[in-house]
Amino acid sequence: MSFLLTCPNCGPRDVNEFAYTGEVTTRPSSTPSLRELTDYVYFRRNVAGVQREWWHHRFGCELWFVAERDTRTNEVLSVELPTAVEPKAAPEPAVPETPAV
Ligand SMILES: [Zn+2]
Repeated sequence: MSFLLTCPNCGPRDVNEFAYTGEVTTRPSSTPSLRELTDYVYFRRNVAGVQREWWHHRFGCELWFVAERDTRTNEVLSVELPTAVEPKAAPEPAVPETPAV
C-alpha cells in the first residue's frame, strides 16, 4: 500500500522513499530487571490504531523523525523531529576557565 508521508525537511513524499524503523519505545531504568530488559528489546505493542513510529528518509535527506500514524488506515496524523534527551550536567571544572588577574 502506498501513501504520502511528510518529511519535516523535504515535505510530502511517496512512502517508498522512507524506511519504517519501529515503534517509539521508552528505555527502561538504568538498572532494569531481566523482564524489563526483555520487554524493551523483544516485545512491541503492535497496536491497531494510532502509534508513534520512527521513520528514516533513506532516499532523500536521510533525516530520522517521529510520525504518528493510524496503523488501520495508514493515515499519518503528525510528523515531528525527535526531542533531544537532556544531557547530564557537566561537572564543575577543577580549574576556573577564566584566568585570575
Ligand atoms: Zn527528507
